[in-house]
Amino acid sequence: METALVINCGSSSLKIAVFDGTLQRVASALAERLGSEEALARVNGTLSVILPSGASHGDALRRIVDSFRQQGILDRTPTVIGHRVVHGGEAFRQASRIDAQVAGAIADCAELAPLHNPVNQLGIEAAAALFPDVPQVAVFDTAFHQTLPERAYLYAIPMRLYEQWGVRRYGFHGTSHSYMASRTAEILGKSLEETSLISAHLGNGCSITAISRGKSVDTSMGLTPLEGLVMGTRSGDVDPGLFDFLKGKGLDAEEVHRILNNESGLLGISGETNDMRHLGELAAQGHRRADLAIKIFCFRLAKYIAAMTASLTELDALVFTGGIGENSAQVRARTVSHLRLLGFAVDDQRNARRGEDGRAIHSDRSRFPILVVPTDEERVIAREALAIARN
Ligand code: ADP
Repeated sequence: METALVINCGSSSLKIAVFDGTLQRVASALAERLGSEEALARVNGTLSVILPSGASHGDALRRIVDSFRQQGILDRTPTVIGHRVVHGGEAFRQASRIDAQVAGAIADCAELAPLHNPVNQLGIEAAAALFPDVPQVAVFDTAFHQTLPERAYLYAIPMRLYEQWGVRRYGFHGTSHSYMASRTAEILGKSLEETSLISAHLGNGCSITAISRGKSVDTSMGLTPLEGLVMGTRSGDVDPGLFDFLKGKGLDAEEVHRILNNESGLLGISGETNDMRHLGELAAQGHRRADLAIKIFCFRLAKYIAAMTASLTELDALVFTGGIGENSAQVRARTVSHLRLLGFAVDDQRNARRGEDGRAIHSDRSRFPILVVPTDEERVIAREALAIARN
């Protein structure tokens, strides 16, 4: 029986999932606060695994794998290990089996994603030490967007910045958007090559992608995952003149980075929380800035949906996913209410229904279908890793 171990390393966290050969999820684990005295891990949401103080990604991986073995979840070595790697630069258009050359190219891309690629490399090294004979596959957040045309990926800045340093739009959340494309095609009963959609991934990070006949043709995140939509703690688009202005106020680059990445977005506007569910509750109790945060979030999103239509010649569906996209009927309704002129319309009852994978929420008079499709990035990583291992 085949099994894929999926590893997603964050700066202080490690998510692991086990899938069988038919892509059923067998187990999940999450280790948090790695490197601190309070490091801890949970298997399948409940079973706690004791980690030593200051546990590294490698320590956590070993303990979790031991726990999987004790529970009979992983009785042999996995068939393949799939790693989420955030930045593949222009070097990777698809998932790749990790050898010395690929590992070197991932290290080269660290310059473009200094907060992400080095921790992804830690995961790869820890897995290689634990399972030296198991093939390892890197699945890149950026790869799906390598089909963007020049007009969408180049910024209007001197060409030398692109030529010398690779300054361009790369786009992220590619695994999720690519899953949205294939799942939407399946739901609509069409082939991927004849399916065009706008995919809105709304989690803590948020991005939107125009997909024309199965290929990404424009996306809202850019050189880094900071550009575009309003997010939990990230600002998304701001006037680049803001940097100069804040410099004039005595802030240095590090402070501006912290403000825009960690203190902005829903948290910055509301002054309370980056959590959309909590914001909804506060807004319902009359919290003005919580309501304002939701309003600005939805308005920016609607503007981007409209903008994405410029990249498409046909549209089969607008698709919502991610924790917010899948669960917040209010965000979906408010967003679509700005898009009346383009002919999008939500049906309130359908929008309020829960559960059901791939449900339609548009009204009968909507010009385009609107769907809610739960994403599963780990499953896509397992699928791609198994496909490479089988070849
Ligand atoms: P991540 O990007 O970290 O994977 P998720 O995709 O889990 O994040 O999305 C987290 C967001 O989803 C949070 O803002 C959370 O409040 C929101 N969310 C989850 N459930 C609901 C809900 N029922 N209603 C509104 N928002 C929700």
